[in-house]
Order: sequence, then C-alpha cells, then structure tokens
Amino acid sequence: MTLFRATVLDTPDDPFTGGALRASADEGLLVRDGMIVARGSFASLAAEHPSEDVVSLEGGLLLPGFVDTHVHFPQVRVIGGLGRPLLEWLERCALPEEARLADTTYATGVAADFVSGLVRAGTTSALVFGSHFATAVDTLFTEASRVGLRVTSGLVVSDRILRTELLSTPERCFEDAVALASRWHGIGRNRYAVMPRFSLSCTDPMLASCAEVMNAVPGAFFTSHLNENLREIETVSGLFGARNYLDTYDAHGLVGRRSVLAHNVHPRDTELKVLAEREATVSHCPTSNSALGSGLFPLERHVAYDVRVALGSDVGAGTGFSLLKEGLQAYFMQQLLGTSGYALTPAHLLHLATAAGARALELDEVGDLSVGKRFDAQWVKPASGSTFDVALRNAFGPEDALAKTFALGTPSDVTAVWIDGEPVVADGSMIERVAAFQ
Ligand SMILES: [Zn+2]
Repeated sequence: MTLFRATVLDTPDDPFTGGALRASADEGLLVRDGMIVARGSFASLAAEHPSEDVVSLEGGLLLPGFVDTHVHFPQVRVIGGLGRPLLEWLERCALPEEARLADTTYATGVAADFVSGLVRAGTTSALVFGSHFATAVDTLFTEASRVGLRVTSGLVVSDRILRTELLSTPERCFEDAVALASRWHGIGRNRYAVMPRFSLSCTDPMLASCAEVMNAVPGAFFTSHLNENLREIETVSGLFGARNYLDTYDAHGLVGRRSVLAHNVHPRDTELKVLAEREATVSHCPTSNSALGSGLFPLERHVAYDVRVALGSDVGAGTGFSLLKEGLQAYFMQQLLGTSGYALTPAHLLHLATAAGARALELDEVGDLSVGKRFDAQWVKPASGSTFDVALRNAFGPEDALAKTFALGTPSDVTAVWIDGEPVVADGSMIERVAAFQ
C-alpha cells in the first residue's frame, strides 16, 4: 500500500445542485491495488499505518484526473488553425489531416502524440472521437492500452459531403465497427463508442447502421456533434427536413444516457427538453467554440432544463488538451453572456472537468478521490518562483487556490499523474512502458 500526503481538492457533491468544494489540507490517501481504501488527516492515517510507503506531495494541489468528453484523436497535429469558421476549418485544416491516417504508420505516430498529450495535461479518462479508418482506431486503442489511459472510442463514419477518402457505406461501417468492438470493447480500460461524424455527413441509412451497432455491442456509447454552428444547422435542416438537429439522431434511437453530444451552442428549447429526458450529456468545448466563432454556450439554459454538461477540449479546433484552460474559457464565456450567463465558481469548473465527465461516461470508479474510487489523480505543482507558484502560495483559501489553478495552470504544471494507482507521468514526463495494462 502507498500513503499519499497532499492538499486534496475534489467535488464529490455536485456544485450545480448545492454541493461544495471538498478541500483537505495535509490529507492522507491510502491506496491499495489502485483503489483508495482510506482517507483522512495524514497524521491519523500515518499513525494507523506506520509501515506503509509515504509519497509526500508538498506544495501544489492533488486533483482527480480530468475526464475529457470530446477530443479528436486525428487532430493533434493541426491544433492552432485559427481564423476560419467550422465548415471551412474542417475542409482546409482537419479533414486533410484525418485522411492521412489511412497510413497506419502515420496513425501510430499520431496516436502516441495524442495519448501523451492527454495524460501530460492531467487527463486520465477520455471519450475520444476516433478515425474514419479502422486500422487507425486500432492504433489508438493499442497506445491507450500501453499507457493506461481509460479510453472510450471508435470508428468515425460518414457517407456524404466529406472528401471521398473519408466516406464509407452503412454495411461496411457496421462490419468494421462490430469487428473493432470485438477487439476492444470491455478489454482492459477500453470501451467502444459509435460515432457518426455529424448528421450533415451521414444519410439516414448510415445513422440506422449506427443504431444497429449500438444493438450489436451491449454497453456501447454514442457520440456525435450537435448544433455547433449556424451554417451547419441550416445545412442539416435542409438535408433532413427534420424538426430539429437532435431529431436526426433521436429518430434512430441514438440519444440516451450513454450519449454525449458535443457543442450544442445553439439549441432549441425542445431539444434541451429531450436531452434532459434521455439523460444524455452535452460536451461543452469552450476554446473550440471561441476559436471557430461558433458562439457563446448557453449553460444557464442547459442547467434550467437539467441537461447534463461536461467539458471537452475538442482538439484541433480547440487550443490544446488542458481542461484547466477549457474551464477558464468556460468561465470567460459565461461572464461575456452577462445576465444570461451562469455564475461559475472554481468548484463548478473542477466538477465539469472531473466528476461530470465521469458520470457522462458511466465511470463510477473515478471522478473524485473518495474511499472506494480508483486512484486517478494529478499533482498540479508549479515551478518554484513562477507566477502560478506565487499566486498559489498567496491564495486566501482552497477556493481561491483552485481559481488560481484554472487561471494560471498549464500542462507544464502537471508534475505527476496516476491512473489506477500507477504513475504514468512523473516529474512532468511520461513514464516509459513496454507491456500493456490489462
Ligand atoms: Zn468535435
């Protein structure tokens, strides 16, 4: 067993429904076989367990590992393509790079860049938008398994409008998806998710084949895009003539409690009502929405309708993997909305980046650092003398320290990361592994 000693912040009680930040200075967490088996003041735990190894995390904060609910694996190398709206950005920046993943050697390199980017940013679980190529999806699951990341991902499918290399047929997509799921779903920390790119690029027969995969793979997740950009919404409406964008998925039974829809910047009230009824989650991707000029996310309306919301980094329309930055940008956007914005506190931001994502992905075993949870955690410890360090040392209390962490923290401040009790990042660098986790 290992006894961790740290200042621990987490949000086991949802701040959106009255919960508060849990903050414990000089806390002890006793971890056995990856699980937190005891928690309390370090002094009392050390007295009860005098012979255990102690890992002393002095300074900084120990936080739960982040849960990123929307992040595109093939886009890590095209982050930063600023200056274009969604559909033009897809055509010029994202899709040419996505086409390169047909080459498995190239995809293997991208998978390594992607997985290390996530864990070095403190992310320990992710719902990952995969590739249009099954061979590339294999490289992602293989790399995630090697590093230990908890990943839910799958084959991205489309059968119209996109460049031809990225198109397939409903029959072929069904076969590829079921074959991928048989290799990875429920194996180690991997799970399968069905993912039409968006209904703009998918016909009804393709969406029907997605529903068939959901039926063929018990416990599979569903993810796609929704109401991101006004021109996109108009195009979808022209293609389907459906009552609204959500209906294009819901008509095929694809919206349920294991569904995560990214963006939803421009929802209708009827859509919010259905999302709440189905207990689906919306993945809010604030830096992406800002970079593409998609709009200001109406969080207040989502909360009013009781729609579940978590955070996503999107990448590459986003600006990197850090959910600290996404949290800060989420805060900015609500501030800019003025009286129709939601007054986010640091506890809300931490919850959106951790427990809310764990709930969306039905990862009950992670999301906070309570007894009984798996030890997925990150030690955020700024370099001595940095502005973040100065701010943290002068914080008025835990809530203020967390605000400073969202305002100033970056992946370079993520000094150590553990998944299931195993260190995956130490001294800010990936720990090299040969064998895959099971
Ligand atoms: Zn996306």
